[in-house]
Amino acid sequence: MNKADTSKIETFLENCGLQPASGVEAADVIVLNSCVVRQKAENRVLSKLGSLKELRKKRPHASILLTGCLVDSQVEELHQQFPYVDFFFKPGHFPDFVKWSQKQGILKDSPPLYPPPSCSPPTAFITIIEGCNNFCSYCIVPYRRGREKSRPKSEIIGEVHNLVQRGVKEITLLGQNVDSYGHDLPEKPDLADLLQDLNRVNGLCRIRFLTSHPKDMKIKLINMIPKLEKVCEHINLPVQSGSEEILHSMRRGYTANNYRQLITHIRNAIPNASLSTDIIVGYPGETEAQFLQTYCLVEDMRFDTVHVAAYSPRRGTIAASNLTDDIPQDVKRKRLDKIEELQANISSEINEKLIGTTVELLVEKRAGDKWMGRTRTGKLVFIQSQTDIMGRLVVVRITRTSPWSMSGELAVEESVVTAKP
Ligand code: SAH
Ligand code: SF4
Repeated sequence: MNKADTSKIETFLENCGLQPASGVEAADVIVLNSCVVRQKAENRVLSKLGSLKELRKKRPHASILLTGCLVDSQVEELHQQFPYVDFFFKPGHFPDFVKWSQKQGILKDSPPLYPPPSCSPPTAFITIIEGCNNFCSYCIVPYRRGREKSRPKSEIIGEVHNLVQRGVKEITLLGQNVDSYGHDLPEKPDLADLLQDLNRVNGLCRIRFLTSHPKDMKIKLINMIPKLEKVCEHINLPVQSGSEEILHSMRRGYTANNYRQLITHIRNAIPNASLSTDIIVGYPGETEAQFLQTYCLVEDMRFDTVHVAAYSPRRGTIAASNLTDDIPQDVKRKRLDKIEELQANISSEINEKLIGTTVELLVEKRAGDKWMGRTRTGKLVFIQSQTDIMGRLVVVRITRTSPWSMSGELAVEESVVTAKP
C-alpha cells in the first residue's frame, strides 16, 4: 500500500514538472512515506527523520513532507516533535498534498480530483478500498488509515483502461481487506463483480488482488477465480496464528479450523493455486503449545510464501492497552526462526518440482545481466536473454530453484505470448 502511495506521489510531482533528484542531498522536495505497523519499521522512520533534521541545516529551502502511518490526528504534536518538517499529511490524503503543492506554486493549474494513477509498465498497483474496519487487537492500521472507503467500480475500470494504454499488462488491486470491497457503495458490487468486469479489459493480461481476509473471503469469489483467465491463481490469506485462543484474542473473526476448511476449498476450486500468508509470533501470552499449533498449521498448509513477524505493541491498539508484551525478545526470535526454517524447506520442495517445466513470465525489469519477472503464481524468475524482453510475456523453462526465486531460460526464443485464451 505504501509503495503504491509513494509512486502516486512521485507521478503527481513529475506531472507538475519536477524531476527525480540524484539523492536526498540534492532534492528540493523530500517526501518521507512512513510505515509504523511494527516497531522495527517505526525505528527506521525515526532514524530517517533524524538525518533529515541534519539535512535541514544544510538545505534550509528544501521542503520536507511527512506522510504514511506515522501521521496521526495529532498534527500539532507532530509539529512540535519534528519542527523541521514543513508539512504533514495522513496516508492516502492526497487532496491535502495537492493543496499544499498548489500553495507552494508546484502545481500551477487547478488540482485534479485524484492524482493520476501511477505506473511503471508493465505492472501497476491500484487501491480499490482504503482503510479498515476490523480493529484486530494488535494492528494500528485502522487508527491511521481510517475506516473502509471503496472507490466506485467505474472509476477503477476507467483507471485500468488508462493504465493499459500506457503499457500496463498486470494490475494488483489493493486494500487492507479486498474482500469487503463495495459494501459501502450504493450498488454494493463485490470483488468478484469487479474482477469479472476487469477481466474484459482488452490488452490487460493479469489481475492480482491483495490482501484477502479469511473471515470475509466468499465462496462466490473463490469459484469465480478459475473462470476468469486474467485473474492469477495467487492468494494472500493472512492467518496470523494457528491457536484458537490467540486468534480469538486477536479478534480475527475466524477459527483455525475455519481457516483450514477455507484453504481446502481454495485448493479444490483453483488448481495449482499459490498461497501466501502472514504470521505473528510472540503475541502476548503465547505459550509454547500455542506456538506449536501455528507451526503445525504452517506444516500442514504448505504455503508458497510465509511472512513472519515478531509481535510488537503499537500504542493505542487494543492489545497494547490491555495485554502485557510478556514474551521475551529471544523467545520471539527463536519462534520466528523456527517458522522461517520450516517454510524455507517447504518452499524449496514446492519450487524444486518446477524444474524442467515451462511457465509464463511477465518480464518486469533488468536485474544486473539478467531479466527479472514473475510467474502467474507470483514467483520470481531470473533469465538470461540477449533479446530485449522488457515488459513482455514469455514462456520460460525453469532450470534452477531456491526457496525464494528461480532461474530459467526462454523456452522458445522470442516466444512472446499474449493474454491466455
Ligand atoms: N490487512 C492485512 C495486513 C495488515 S498489516 C491483514 O489483515 O492481515 C501487515 C502485517 O503486519 C500483518 O499481516 C501482520 O502479520 C503484521 N503486523 C501488524 N501489526 C503487527 C504488530 N503489532 N506486531 C507484529 N506484526 C504486526
Ligand atoms: Fe489490521 Fe486486521 Fe485491518 Fe488487517 S484486517 S489492516 S490486520 S485491523
